[in-house]
Amino acid sequence: MDRFGWVPSVGGNISVRLDAERIAITRSGGRKGFLTREGVMVVDLHGASLTEGGRPSAETGLHCQIYRAFPDVGAVLHGHSIAATVLSRVVEGDGIVLSGYEMIKAFAGQTTHEARVVVPLLDNDQDIDRLSGIVAGRLNGPVPGYVLRGHGVYAWGRDADQALMHLEALEFLLDCEFQARKIN
Ligand SMILES: [Zn+2]
Repeated sequence: MDRFGWVPSVGGNISVRLDAERIAITRSGGRKGFLTREGVMVVDLHGASLTEGGRPSAETGLHCQIYRAFPDVGAVLHGHSIAATVLSRVVEGDGIVLSGYEMIKAFAGQTTHEARVVVPLLDNDQDIDRLSGIVAGRLNGPVPGYVLRGHGVYAWGRDADQALMHLEALEFLLDCEFQARKIN
């Protein structure tokens, strides 16, 4: 994520499921491209810290929500890419429509580039509990991810590899839409 420029400064956060009750998540602050063992802590599925000292990511509640909703999800990634940040401020409404892209097939159940998928787009909110409530109704679409306006992308998968694969596909598609608008 750092190599692609998706976690600039202290942006973004990363988590993996440890078991049915616990996740490991990056602490608040720290630069993810320079992540160390000390930069990770353990919380329960409601965001309560199980590690002495330090604060989990401010957006831990959004990670926990995904793990609670999908017992088979093993990793959640969140980055602040330029494409997602800029595009989400230009697109109106509550979804970014993608069609005609071969890369759509990276998402489970999509067998053709002719498919039309909508990436949920939600207004950013510093109140994570309130935001979680709005996200809740948008989690079950074909895309294992969503975009927060002017903020960034959430993506998930059964493990860290698949979550990264989904994030790469989503970021690729968002960047295509971003570049296409620049040409136009
Ligand atoms: Zn963020």
